[in-house]
Amino acid sequence: MLITILGSGTSQGVPVIGCQCPVCQSKDPRDKRTRTSILIRTEQVTVAVDAGPDFRQQMLREGVSHLDAVFITHEHKDHIGGLDDVRPFIFSQGNHPMPLYVDESALPEIKREFSYAFEEHLYPGAPTYDVHLIDETPFDFGDLHVEPIKMKHYTLTCYAFRIGKFAYVTDLSEVSEHLMDRLQGVEFLVLEALGPKPHYSHISLQQAVDVAKRLNVKKAWFTHCSHSIGKAHDVNAQLPTNMMLAYDGLSFKV
Ligand SMILES: [Zn+2]
Ligand SMILES: [Zn+2]
Ligand SMILES: [Zn+2]
Repeated sequence: MLITILGSGTSQGVPVIGCQCPVCQSKDPRDKRTRTSILIRTEQVTVAVDAGPDFRQQMLREGVSHLDAVFITHEHKDHIGGLDDVRPFIFSQGNHPMPLYVDESALPEIKREFSYAFEEHLYPGAPTYDVHLIDETPFDFGDLHVEPIKMKHYTLTCYAFRIGKFAYVTDLSEVSEHLMDRLQGVEFLVLEALGPKPHYSHISLQQAVDVAKRLNVKKAWFTHCSHSIGKAHDVNAQLPTNMMLAYDGLSFKV
């Protein structure tokens, strides 16, 4: 399984529009963060987890020519804003609606945002979605065995996705024992770390490091980073050797 970090930035992205801070002014490509998403590729399937506002650029940047599904973590704009841009895949793949794996709680917002995709008489060229409702019941997609894990994201429900010894965990406001139980045995972890300070709807870098340590993972990459986290070069130097900040375009096999 090949994992690609499509985007590693929080909702505003990095650089933040108009910001003059050293991170936003950094020339290091690892400090340029589009909105958080990953691509999962196996022999049989290619899946995006979330399709945020930078989805189109991410697909072009990574040369993705085929997409089998989008798994949705939750309904925030930075995770669904690019769902219209799955249209080229729909058109080139036989006009089949794009499968969306999504919790019921996220569906009303998707239907509001992309109401034109759910109308009875579709305008020609409108996107179409094949909605598969998820809960914590594991499901198979191609050669993937997916275990969704419910998390609290301030007032919302958000899902982590575990696939074998890999897990993708973003947008959580607290690290529950339920989550820790379900992540036992994970060796490769992509986990959110918003910045240095605790936040009402996200976990901090220190909380993320603690989770990775408690799970005793082989490798952890931190994502959904804001500009407040600091420059990747400086932060990585302070982290344990098996942990680092994720960056856009990073790929690894698990
Ligand atoms: Zn987010
Ligand atoms: Zn900044
Ligand atoms: Zn969110």
